[in-house]
Amino acid sequence: MGGPARAAGVSGFGARHCGSLRVADEGGEVELYGWVARRRDHGGLIFIDLRDRWGAVQVVFNPAKSPQAHGVASELRSEYVVRIKGTVGRRPAGSENPRMPTGDVEVAASDVEVINTSDTTPFPIVDPEEPDEKTRLEYRYLDLRRPRMMQMLELRSRVNKIIRDFMDGKEFIEVETPILTRSSPSGARDFLVPSRLHPGSFYALPQAPQMLKQLLMVSGVQRYYQIARCFRDENLRADRQPEFTQLDLEMSFCDEEDVFGLIEGLFSKLWRDVLGVELSTPFPRLDIKESLLRYGSDKPDLRHDLEIVDLGQVLAGTKAQIFRGALDAGGVVRGMRVPGGRDMARRDLDDLVTVARGAGGKGMAWLPGSSIDKFLSEDELSGIRLATGAGVEDIVLLVADRKRKAETVMGLIRQEVARRRKLIREDEWKFLWINPTYLFEEDDEGKLTYAHHPFTRPFQEDMSFVEERPYDVRAHAYDIVCNGYELGGGSLRIYDPAMQERVFQLLGMPLDTIRERFGTLLQAFTYGVPPHGGIAPGIDRIVMMLGGTDNIRDVIAFPKTQSMSDLMLGAPAEVDASQLDELNVVVKPLKKAGS
Ligand code: ASP
Repeated sequence: MGGPARAAGVSGFGARHCGSLRVADEGGEVELYGWVARRRDHGGLIFIDLRDRWGAVQVVFNPAKSPQAHGVASELRSEYVVRIKGTVGRRPAGSENPRMPTGDVEVAASDVEVINTSDTTPFPIVDPEEPDEKTRLEYRYLDLRRPRMMQMLELRSRVNKIIRDFMDGKEFIEVETPILTRSSPSGARDFLVPSRLHPGSFYALPQAPQMLKQLLMVSGVQRYYQIARCFRDENLRADRQPEFTQLDLEMSFCDEEDVFGLIEGLFSKLWRDVLGVELSTPFPRLDIKESLLRYGSDKPDLRHDLEIVDLGQVLAGTKAQIFRGALDAGGVVRGMRVPGGRDMARRDLDDLVTVARGAGGKGMAWLPGSSIDKFLSEDELSGIRLATGAGVEDIVLLVADRKRKAETVMGLIRQEVARRRKLIREDEWKFLWINPTYLFEEDDEGKLTYAHHPFTRPFQEDMSFVEERPYDVRAHAYDIVCNGYELGGGSLRIYDPAMQERVFQLLGMPLDTIRERFGTLLQAFTYGVPPHGGIAPGIDRIVMMLGGTDNIRDVIAFPKTQSMSDLMLGAPAEVDASQLDELNVVVKPLKKAGS
C-alpha cells in the first residue's frame, strides 16, 4: 500500500465549477472538485491547473501558508482526482493568462485531499495536440476528457435542446419508434437481428422510421418529430457512420413551402444561437437539373462562383473527334471558365486530368493550350468563349462524356479548382434547397431505381410520360444543402394507394412483394390518409458544421472506425455458442484469407 489515501464519501455536486471562477469571486472561499491538469513545482510554490467539465483554474500551494496542503500537493500527478479548499484571489499583475477564461484569478489552497489517483494516461489530456485516432478511439473515455471533445458533447446536447424547443414551439410531438423493426427501403443494406422466439426470422434495425412516421400521419398525429437513430450497413466514407442521428419529422396537410419555412426557421435559430450568425431566408432554390448542369453536383458548394455551361449547341457541328464522338453517342460537352486561369501550370492541369480519370471520366481538355485548339473552327472557339464568358486571361476546362459522367467529373473539377485557387469564401454559409428533384435514377447496373425512397410523390402531370421517359419525371422532393454538404432530404409523400402501387410496379416490384412488404401502408391508406410530407436533417452533420470539424467521429461520443469497429468495447465480437444455439443461428466456417 502506498500513495495518498482515498476519500470515502464525497459530495461535491453543489460545489463551484473550476471553470466558472472570475475576478468577481475575489476573496471568496471555495471548495473545488476536479482533475489535476498540470502541476508545476517552482521549488517553493506549487501550481496546479485544476480541471472540471466547465474549464480549469490555477491553484497555488504556498508552503509558508499551508504546509500540510503543500506537502500533499508535492505528490499530485496528472489526472489525480482531488478536492481543494481555498480562497479566490487576483493573480499578481503580469502573471494573468489571457488564454484561460479564469486567467485573471487563482485559488490559494488551504486544504487538498486526493480522492483518487491516476496511472499515467496513454496520451496527455490537453488541447490542441491530438493523439492518433486509433488511440483516441481505444481510450475514448479519456479522449472525451479533453476540453475540445467535452465542448463537442456540450454543443451536441445544446443543438438537441434547441431542436426540441423549436419543434415543441411549432406544436410537433416527439414520438419514439422501435429499433427492432422491419426492413423499409432507404437505399442501403439492413442490419439484422435474429429472433429467438421466431426461429429463422429477423428484425431489421431502422434505416429511418419512414413508414412508421407516415403511419403516424394516418393515426392523426399531424406533426411528428423524433431525434431518431438510424442504421445503415454501408461502406463508410469520411463523413458517414453506420449508426447516425436524424431529426426525423413528418407533417400533415402541408406543401413544400411549409416544410421549407419550418426548416429555414430551425436552421436560422441554430446558427443564430450557436454561432451568432444571421442566415438570410428564404434559402435559394435550385432545381436538380440546373444544379447538375451549373455545378456538376446535387449538393453544390456555392461559396465560390465557378459555373459550368453546356456546349452542345456551340459544338453541334464540330469535327473535333473527342467532342463529335461524345455528342454522337448521345453524350454532352461541358465547359467551365477559370477566371485568370491562363496562369495555371501544366502540372495543375494534369492533376485535374487525374481527378477526372479517378472519377471514371475519359479526361479533360482545356482552351487555349491543349492540342484540341487546332481541331476547332474560329466560330467554335469564339462560341466557347462567349458561352463560358471567358476573356483573354481565362482558361476554359472541357469535358466530353455521357451526361451523368460529365456532370460528376465537372463537379469534382469545379471543386478542386476552387480549392486549389483559394476561391472558396470560408466564412460564408451558403444554404440552398435542391427542389424539385427527379423521382427515379439509374442504379449502378443501369436499372431504374428510386432517387429518394419509393414513397415520394411524383409530379402528377409528369406521370403521363413515365413509361417513355421515366428519368424525366419530377418529384416533390427536396434536399437541404450547405457549403457542399447535403444536410437532409425529404419529400411530399404519395397518399393515394393506387399511385403508390403504380410506383412500386414501375420500380419492378412484383405484386406479391408489394403486398408482403408494404401491405400495411397500402391498407392504412384506405382508412383516411391526410396528404403529408416530411424531411430528416442529419444531426451529426449539423453539429459538425456548427462545431467547425470535418471529422464526424468528433461529434459522436462513441463512434465506429472506418471498418465499423468499436475499438473501445471491441465490437463487433464473437458470441457464445450457446447464444447462437438459442437464436438458431449457425455461423459458417470463416474463409481463411486467400482461400
Ligand atoms: N426517411 C428519409 C431519409 O432518411 C427522409 C424523409 O424522406 O423524410 O432519407
